Amino acid sequence: MANIAVVGAGVMGLSSAVAIQRALPNARVTIMADKFTTDTTSDGAGGLFVPYAVDTDKDILRKWAVEGRRHFYHLAFSEHSRVTGVYLSHGYDLSTVPLTEPHPHLDFVLSRRRMNAEEISTFQPYYVDGYHVVTVIVEGRKYLPWLTARFQEKGGLIATRKIHSFDELEGKYDVVVNCAGLGSQTLTGDEQLKPERGQILRVYAPWIKFFIHANDNFYFFPSSENAAIGGTRQLDRYDVTPDASDTEAIWEKAVKRLPSVKGAKRLWEWAGLRPHRGPPRIVHNYGHGYYGISLSWGTGVHVAEMVDDLLKAGPKL
Ligand SMILES: Cc1cc2nc3c(=O)[nH]c(=O)nc-3n(C[C@H](O)[C@H](O)[C@H](O)COP(=O)(O)OP(=O)(O)OC[C@H]3O[C@@H](n4cnc5c(N)ncnc54)[C@H](O)[C@@H]3O)c2cc1C
Repeated sequence: MANIAVVGAGVMGLSSAVAIQRALPNARVTIMADKFTTDTTSDGAGGLFVPYAVDTDKDILRKWAVEGRRHFYHLAFSEHSRVTGVYLSHGYDLSTVPLTEPHPHLDFVLSRRRMNAEEISTFQPYYVDGYHVVTVIVEGRKYLPWLTARFQEKGGLIATRKIHSFDELEGKYDVVVNCAGLGSQTLTGDEQLKPERGQILRVYAPWIKFFIHANDNFYFFPSSENAAIGGTRQLDRYDVTPDASDTEAIWEKAVKRLPSVKGAKRLWEWAGLRPHRGPPRIVHNYGHGYYGISLSWGTGVHVAEMVDDLLKAGPKL
């Protein structure tokens, strides 16, 4: 029986582990991590499905995005939608400058159309162009526990453990899959991996039924019980304590760009670090930055294929 370790229990680790169980039903799969669900970046993310990755081969990106789209749309339309936290949503992808073509993060959404003059006039003077988009929103706080339950139902093992070096796992596993997110900085010595701090304000505004995703760091993503308003993109900043001045800036920006949010009850703030960007055979699945929730399922399925190929290629190191 193949023995697989997945390091990391964010959306990447859980997706990869569940996909490996599907591809290799006889494998023993263990997730090991020092933080779970509510303590991960994946838990608090906005969760808009707009799959994109800078400097990635187009065919590989297409594979991840199409696989993820199939997975998330299936969940959004299924009887499991409420428990999985995956919902169909529509809204506006807005631009501060005129567009010659849509941003590539819209290439794999369910549908998009150029906004008409009346729609865009609502958002002036802040935005002058944009697309109306249908896609899904993934609520990490529900989706992560759902993936965890699926993993355990299939016999998956979970260990609370901080890994200091992949050498600790040598000889014990046939393949190790690295989904440690920003933790990969120290585990792999990857100096290109940097945190991109993002802060969100959660509000109660059930009357706003559409999302906004704009190119000046403003977004409003409604989910089942509240909505996330963002945000910030602060490269190389490591603290996750919410910053009161960031919160006020986020709120002021939101009230100007989306006046209907003004009566919303402010609930809580949250900050997380996007992961901006071996000896046992290691499959790395980290560094998905701004788009990690969107790419999680597609890359998880790709990981499962790579694990299968490695197992077929020969014995463990
Ligand atoms: C404010 C904000 C909004 C966002 N909005 C969106 C969005 O709308 N759409 C989208 O697609 N993406 C969004 N993202 C990005 C997305 O959240 C991340 O790309 C994604 O969650 C990364 O997942 P991950 O599993 O790689 O990392 P994490 O969720 O950080 O999980 C890492 C895991 O690795 C474990 N780990 C790390 N080091 C070690 C170690 N040494 N030993 C053991 N375990 C270890 C941790 O304990 C944890 O379990 C947003 C991010 C932020 C901050």
